[in-house]
Amino acid sequence: MVAPQCAKCVDRKCYVEEWSSEKLPGFCPMRDKPEVIDAAMERYESGDRDLYVNSTITEQRAYQMVRGRVMAVRPRMLEVIKFSEMMGWNRLGVAFCVGLAEEARRVVEILEGAGFDVCSVCCKCGSVDKTWWGISGEDKIATVRGSSEAFEAGCNPIVQAEVLNSESTELNVIVGLCIGHDIQFTECSEAPVTTLIVKDRVTGHNPLAALYSGYHHPRLWREEET
Ligand code: SF4
Repeated sequence: MVAPQCAKCVDRKCYVEEWSSEKLPGFCPMRDKPEVIDAAMERYESGDRDLYVNSTITEQRAYQMVRGRVMAVRPRMLEVIKFSEMMGWNRLGVAFCVGLAEEARRVVEILEGAGFDVCSVCCKCGSVDKTWWGISGEDKIATVRGSSEAFEAGCNPIVQAEVLNSESTELNVIVGLCIGHDIQFTECSEAPVTTLIVKDRVTGHNPLAALYSGYHHPRLWREEET
């Protein structure tokens, strides 16, 4: 068995209609794992087909012919709205990071303006000091400022999820939760979860910038560590 390496594939034969197994690269899952793919396809038969179909229609609606060119016309914020409408979801939750409270306020305003009932929960909800989880003073952010004894509310993704669960939200939207906290929130949310904003403190919440800018290149991080 060879580990799948689609990110290293040059031809991407899966993207065209005509392909044959012998022309696929050795690391291609279509070559090495056809039984896994067949079993996965069966899950669409038994699962929630609406979710898939509406996602794919939303994907198509992202484009329009503008002055003779196919152009992308919907920002993700609008896609959240349109997709939720298609799914018949009316009650939405927003789980946000305290560092993006202003952005969360605007997200809620836009969703409410589009006609949704919206509940929102801040990551610090519960107001529990980080030491409750066994995190030492030296691992508090306050230590960077030299005050490890200061109260520092921990992010609380399980509380965020349970508060939204108690409101029976139909979709929960992540606005800038920390890495790891976003995973725990997703695990505990009863409603499906989508990420509108991924936290990246350095790049204005745009992780792609680290791929495009030499100033953020991983090579520099390695140099910093040595
Ligand atoms: S599925 Fe196969 S052909 Fe498609 S990107 Fe992956 S390796 Fe390439």
